[in-house]
Amino acid sequence: MCKKTFSFGGLHLNKHKISALSPIQDAGVPPFVYIPIKQHIGSPAQIIVKQGDKVKIGTLLAQAYGTISANIHSSVAGEIKKIEEVQSESGYFEQVITIQTTADDYEAGIDTSTQISNDIPQNSAEIIELIKAAGIVGMGGAGFPTPIKTSIPANKSVQYLIINGIECEPYLTADGALMLEKPEEIVIGAKILNKILGIQNAIIAIDENKPLAIEKITQITKRYVGVNVTVCKSKYPQGGERQLINDVTGREVPSGKLPIDVGCVVQNVGTVFAVYEAVMKHKPLYERIVTVSGDTNLTTAGNYRVRVGTPADYLLNLAHTKQSQIGKLLFGGPMMGISSVSLQAPINKTTGGLIVIGTQDSLRAEESGCIRCGKCAEVCPMGLMPFAIASNLRRNNTAPLKALHAADCIGCGCCAYICPAKIPLVDYCKLGKYEANKQK
Ligand code: SF4
Ligand code: SF4
Repeated sequence: MCKKTFSFGGLHLNKHKISALSPIQDAGVPPFVYIPIKQHIGSPAQIIVKQGDKVKIGTLLAQAYGTISANIHSSVAGEIKKIEEVQSESGYFEQVITIQTTADDYEAGIDTSTQISNDIPQNSAEIIELIKAAGIVGMGGAGFPTPIKTSIPANKSVQYLIINGIECEPYLTADGALMLEKPEEIVIGAKILNKILGIQNAIIAIDENKPLAIEKITQITKRYVGVNVTVCKSKYPQGGERQLINDVTGREVPSGKLPIDVGCVVQNVGTVFAVYEAVMKHKPLYERIVTVSGDTNLTTAGNYRVRVGTPADYLLNLAHTKQSQIGKLLFGGPMMGISSVSLQAPINKTTGGLIVIGTQDSLRAEESGCIRCGKCAEVCPMGLMPFAIASNLRRNNTAPLKALHAADCIGCGCCAYICPAKIPLVDYCKLGKYEANKQK
């Protein structure tokens, strides 16, 4: 089987896939869940419930609003205790619905059986409505509403549906566990997306470090026309959308363009599984697989099926984490994850992992001056010059950022990881992206 990789930059990282073979455990139901109404790119959903309302698992709490948005559902059965505005991990204020759990009742129509169903509806519009109703967004971290990504403008065409099963961030194994336990559901999900895109060309891209998933999914694809597997080399950030398109098709997404401009749609395996559940089981997106991992002196690594809105400390308790010794808690992987200020922050639709870092390892290395080694540019998979972006921003000089293509930064963190001067390049480059986008 041909192993592919992208052509420029990247890093070979220690994978630390400690929980790669840990079976998915059900995290159960916490006493309270805290459900943010914006777990996606775009406008916040509009709340349609009020304090004191009784809800079931799958009850619609907030309705998609505007062109780019997503429905939000209850992940538990219980009573709405509070609706309040709180500051999110990313610093923005957002509304959060607090629900006290009292029972385990599901909304009518949700099929909770594990029996595999592959009788795909014939009507594409009906399928898109089911995906929309279920509130599905990109679960690989981006949170872009899936119905928008799969609605192709009339002047564009799709040749490839690429299913991202790479999971190149160290420690994270949630997607890998899902591929091991739900391989046929993922393949059927790919068939569903093929159907609405009007193609017969779904390619499930899997990192070479997941041989069992490769074997299982390859066997199943033999029974489903139009879905195939390709194996990619282990290299970070192999799972980046643009890098993956380059790996699989040889096509380059030009600066300022989107995957659809080169005939590609990319979806994460978790999203594809959620599509299967929405279409075949009428199940809204109210739970997902989350890896807990990191410093093995502080936590037991594992993969959990977690209700959206579950507070991090509930999940950390299940993983026997020594919470008082946590130096840093990351939502997501160590390269692109967001450091949480609160152990009560909730799991949302895009949380693939909680990574626990000890006090000593969480200390920021002392920064020194740039020695002009050029390593940051060598590893940047987007061909950028991070040192130049950073030095201009330090001088408050934003004019050259557009010419430096700062808007192309994917926030992968390769530059900051490699920099011997320990300059927080990824922070500068994210700011550079924001400034460059303002100049468009
Ligand atoms: S964070 Fe941005 S600038 Fe740095 S290596 Fe990744 S893409 Fe390049
Ligand atoms: S890697 Fe760090 S020290 Fe080397 S050129 Fe880039 S910013 Fe300067």
